[in-house]
Amino acid sequence: MAKTMAVNAGSSSLKFQLLEMPAEQVIAQGVIERIGMDDAIVTIKYGAEINAERLVGHSEDDEHITLSKDGKGKKYENVTAIKNHQQAINFMLQKLTDLGIIKDFNEITGVGHRVVAGGEWFNHSVVVTDEVLAKIDRLADYAPLHNPANAMGIRAFQKLLPDALSVAVFDTSFHQTMPDENFLYALPYEYYTRYGARKYGAHGTSHRYVASRAAELLGKDLKSLKLITLHLGAGASITAIKDGKSLDTSMGFSPLAGVAMATRSGDVDASLVYYIQEREGLTNEEMLNILNKKSGLLGISTISSDMRDLLDVQDTNEHANMAIRIFINRVVKYVGQYVAEMGGVDAIVFTAGIGENSVPVRKMIIDKLNYFGVKLDEEKNNVRGKEVEISTNDSKVKALLIPTNEELMIARDVESLKA
Ligand code: AMP
Repeated sequence: MAKTMAVNAGSSSLKFQLLEMPAEQVIAQGVIERIGMDDAIVTIKYGAEINAERLVGHSEDDEHITLSKDGKGKKYENVTAIKNHQQAINFMLQKLTDLGIIKDFNEITGVGHRVVAGGEWFNHSVVVTDEVLAKIDRLADYAPLHNPANAMGIRAFQKLLPDALSVAVFDTSFHQTMPDENFLYALPYEYYTRYGARKYGAHGTSHRYVASRAAELLGKDLKSLKLITLHLGAGASITAIKDGKSLDTSMGFSPLAGVAMATRSGDVDASLVYYIQEREGLTNEEMLNILNKKSGLLGISTISSDMRDLLDVQDTNEHANMAIRIFINRVVKYVGQYVAEMGGVDAIVFTAGIGENSVPVRKMIIDKLNYFGVKLDEEKNNVRGKEVEISTNDSKVKALLIPTNEELMIARDVESLKA
């Protein structure tokens, strides 16, 4: 059976998942971190059961394999010098062969790459051509940290697997259906035409995946539904999905906008940014760094960007409590906006790290949304990382928990683009 690799290349890391398609079975997944260093870390999980929690045991050697409790799942780990992405991918493919996960490189017939910015050029996933690659390079203006790394990953895979179908899957493309009243900022129009200054959104692959699963779980046609999808992770975004299309989303020109996040501020009055910058004598870069890395849950709580840490001390630490309240408040406000924009909602969907795992955060959000007819079933909500309806049977609006699966969506896009 054909194997497809879903790839997420960052500036110093490369995450991958290898799937048997069209069976949609994950056969290996892994990550190479600290690319460019002498002590890069390679991790590959494989075997019948791929489940990190069940992998036990540790070895002092740099290169070692540990077994899961049931003896089915395995984890390969190594610390070694890896100079660049090309070397990282070569090492990973060679290791997949050595470990018997693939017989040779040619078994991988498709590679799907996550690309952060697709601008207005890409409203769906595409086969990578020279022209596509040139556009991804040019879109680096919109995602300076991400697009160059994504392009580097694409080029490196193309060299090593020249016969595999190479596909680009954009974080922004799902949101290209937004109407102009939602994607335009009320700024002089010429900035849009000159610089593409508009809302692009993000997490599109995740919102698209959970929306399609929600329709399946509800037994309804996606095109007939009004959904609000809540991707609540370290980065968080909320999307209004009407008739299967993104109508509006909380992230903006960049992933800094929208709700408060782990370390990102979310929406802020632009003039306040200028005011603080002046008073503090900060450069543009320093100010942007504060908004991206020192704000959000971390900025308010002053103790942690991790929701778990804040929940642990919320009763005794005033700032942790405040950070949680601000997070919930922003999410609730966006949901309210989107109910108004769509003229109602059929279901709200929770996903990503916080959305999938935090029982209390889901409860705090839903309790504030009772007014439009969503009622939480506390027993059903007492669950983590599983596909499940968490609203009561008589809830007018359904609430669902759906773990996201961007890698599967990427692999499906590769499949659908095979001739
Ligand atoms: P993600 O970006 O989707 O990987 O989500 C990462 C975030 O999920 C982290 O910042 C954690 O704060 C959050 N998270 C993971 N597990 C839990 C949990 N059980 N309760 C609250 N937050 C969680």
